Amino acid sequence: MAKKANKFAEYDISTQAIHTGTDYDAETGAIRRPLHMANSYKLPDDLSQVNYSSTNLLMYARNGNPNQHWLEEKIAALHRADDAIVLGSGVAALHALFWTLLKTGDRVVYPRVSYMAVYRMFNELFNRKFGVETVMVDMTDLEAVRRAITPGTRLVHIETPDNPTNGVTDIAAIAKLAHENGALLSVDNTFASPLNQLPLELGADFVIEAITKYINGHGDAQGGAIISNDLATMDRIRYEAQVNVGSVISPFNAWQIFRGSVTFPLRMDRINKSAQRIAEWLEGRKNVTFVSYPGLTSNPGHETAKKQMRNGFGGVISFGLNTDDKTVERFCAALKVVTFAVSLGHDESLIFPQPSYDERILLYPSKFRNGFIRFSVGLEEPADIIADLDQALRSVGL
Ligand SMILES: *Cc1c(COP(=O)(O)O)cnc(C)c1O
Repeated sequence: MAKKANKFAEYDISTQAIHTGTDYDAETGAIRRPLHMANSYKLPDDLSQVNYSSTNLLMYARNGNPNQHWLEEKIAALHRADDAIVLGSGVAALHALFWTLLKTGDRVVYPRVSYMAVYRMFNELFNRKFGVETVMVDMTDLEAVRRAITPGTRLVHIETPDNPTNGVTDIAAIAKLAHENGALLSVDNTFASPLNQLPLELGADFVIEAITKYINGHGDAQGGAIISNDLATMDRIRYEAQVNVGSVISPFNAWQIFRGSVTFPLRMDRINKSAQRIAEWLEGRKNVTFVSYPGLTSNPGHETAKKQMRNGFGGVISFGLNTDDKTVERFCAALKVVTFAVSLGHDESLIFPQPSYDERILLYPSKFRNGFIRFSVGLEEPADIIADLDQALRSVGL
């Protein structure tokens, strides 16, 4: 895809979220982008120049569609980046990046705590199926990271704050270690979102956003993005993973996320403030064993978070209750305002227990091994959320 200059680059992120990627519809003058569900486009009369694996020509929806391209302009702008690729899910974006960068014999260093699919890809799939050497490291231990990045390491992948424990990794420090040893750095920025953290400006080579979450923000469409200034690799990702593996986003989902993204900075700003207040309340509540939220001064990652995050610390609070798995479930089911469901970054608050029998639980710091809950703060009035948490805790005797 030929890159369009961002006419709004000098403006604040909230202005760009509204104006980048949008324009008048040439045919009708409509001031909203239309939804183009067509999967095929008129070919040029002279076919001799057409490359069927290219994304430069609108030809077939898997090679790219206008709604995807408009959303890519907006997502790149949110990260002050030269390019973004939008695919069908956050996991499709992670896979597209790993699939394009890694080959047999390469080494990848990945975090002890990460999104479930990253754990699966590196703990059982890329290593066993393709002979990629995958090394799991505690990313808060910079000495261990330094030792793990041996020659032959192609990629270091991190997630900060991480899902589900909200652990913080120092992006600039890891970028330096990776680059000193000839490796690339990718950062999953989903928990922070681009309002709060811009990893490319801290030295990362690639950023992943599950735009299913805060950027869409309404819990009604799935999508993922890869964001980078490395245009040559981005074109390879389009060719190898989008066109020839097929992880493209549906035009409808791209249209839906484009609409959601307009209010993203406004929503995220409220969520940052509500989450800070609720985390502070939880920290003082009896029977809450710990609260992991980067905005709390008690958090071991707070100083690093303050250095690399701005505007706020995100909308996920990881916390523990002094009880067993069954009572945690009863607590979640007793909530009236907060919805008992997976995912995060919706308009509504969502809560999801992390049971002690999860096979990954031993990878987490020890305090997370009992009564651990992941809570995504939504847009409701924070006092209502607090009252709801309190009544549900009381209803199970906590
Ligand atoms: C949700 C999530 C993903 C995956 O996004 P999907 O759209 O569900 O595939 C990746 N990373 C993080 C940190 C997430 O929270």
